[in-house]
Amino acid sequence: MLKEYLADFTSLIYPQLCASCGLGLYKGEEVICTFCHHYLPKTYYHLERNNAIEKHFWGRVNIERAASCYFFQRGSRVQHLIHQLKYKGKTEVGVAIGKIYGNDLNHSVDYCTVDVIVPVPLHKSKEMKRGYNQVDLFCEGMAETMNKPWSKHALERLKATETQTHKTRFERWENVGTVFHITNPDSLKGKHVMLADDVITTGSTLEACAQAILAVSDTRVSVATIACAVM
Ligand SMILES: [Zn+2]
Repeated sequence: MLKEYLADFTSLIYPQLCASCGLGLYKGEEVICTFCHHYLPKTYYHLERNNAIEKHFWGRVNIERAASCYFFQRGSRVQHLIHQLKYKGKTEVGVAIGKIYGNDLNHSVDYCTVDVIVPVPLHKSKEMKRGYNQVDLFCEGMAETMNKPWSKHALERLKATETQTHKTRFERWENVGTVFHITNPDSLKGKHVMLADDVITTGSTLEACAQAILAVSDTRVSVATIACAVM
């Protein structure tokens, strides 16, 4: 009772703000306000086989399913959310979106067969600098509502350099296994792995991660990201 009273009192002085629109949150709302929760642009790609993201991977890597929670646009609330998560230390944003998306993915028969969730890793030096990997928080939220394990160290990033974007297909292929490393292949054997990332743009990072996982025998890979800027 006293605790509740104090929480109400504190929120009068320091109102909690919606990480998406920046307006004050009402009692019972967490991280994202009810309005934003309903009006952020969801893709619903998890319910659509052969969607635009999956087509994006065709001919590059054999992905079972690929989907994103939201459409990404410059200057949008979705960009604001991701900015808060990546650069403003708002780790709770990642967990909140993860929970929302995990609930959505539970409605897909394909995503229900996932065995383990694996985040696209940051290089150690980058994670040290930021203090966390934003994708880990997204995984944590999804793991909770999907009731599945997630594995922080299944994949390791060996090179600090970002991008494969401007590489040719052959160079990208050459890069496989040199950028991402599977720490314990036996732990993934025979599993349906759900790779998670924040924003999918060119898809080359996810492609490299998927190739590394698919090199382990009898694995399948699906993809889930917070937002997509594909197309
Ligand atoms: Zn809002």
